[in-house]
Amino acid sequence: ILLSSLATHISISIENNLLYNKIKETANLDGLTGIFNKRYFFDTLNAYKDLDLQNYTIAMIDIDRFKKVNDTYGHLFGDTVLKKVAQIIERNIRPIDIAARYGGEEIIIFFKNFTNAAAIEKRLEAIRCEIEQTRMIDDGNVTSVTASLGAYIKYNEVLTLKEAIARADANLYISKGLGRNRVHINTPD
Ligand code: GH3
Ligand code: MG
Ligand code: MG
Repeated sequence: ILLSSLATHISISIENNLLYNKIKETANLDGLTGIFNKRYFFDTLNAYKDLDLQNYTIAMIDIDRFKKVNDTYGHLFGDTVLKKVAQIIERNIRPIDIAARYGGEEIIIFFKNFTNAAAIEKRLEAIRCEIEQTRMIDDGNVTSVTASLGAYIKYNEVLTLKEAIARADANLYISKGLGRNRVHINTPD
């Protein structure tokens, strides 16, 4: 009886532990896209020691005219598009980078120790091209979307994460202003 009761207790505690880990894991993820959420993004980066002194790149990606996609094909189709875009981004970054859903249809990427302007541009262009060339299909609807990207390369300067994000965001808005479906990056001086 004692052994059986002990076994039951152990199995319950293993089960609780698995459940706990699963909840912890899903708490870090965005429910729709499956990529990291904003909270995880900031918790992880703020835990890095000396982040203000590190070299890294922040990129912001925003789908172009996404409201029109929703209006034309419906919100559920829009969700499918957003998921697909998130997958494309995830496939084009390294395991040490972090991509997270930043806002509605805005995704942020942290490229750790990656500051080579030509290489960053190549990587972001690859994402932009793949989004543009992907057929978005759902429930008989077929279309394609584009996205605008802005990035800030933080190299040998002291800057808070918030400031770096604001600069990447400003570059994203330059991309939008120049006609969308493009990448705008500042080159470090
Ligand atoms: P722009 O090229 O200037 O970015 O135009 P836009 O229409 O994409 O920009 P705006 O920010 O005005 O609209 C974003 C839209 O994204 C509004 C909202 O309906 C849609 N959106 C935000 N989150 C979601 C989501 O989770 N699912 C779907 N389907 N749509 C979303
Ligand atoms: Mg948009
Ligand atoms: Mg937006």
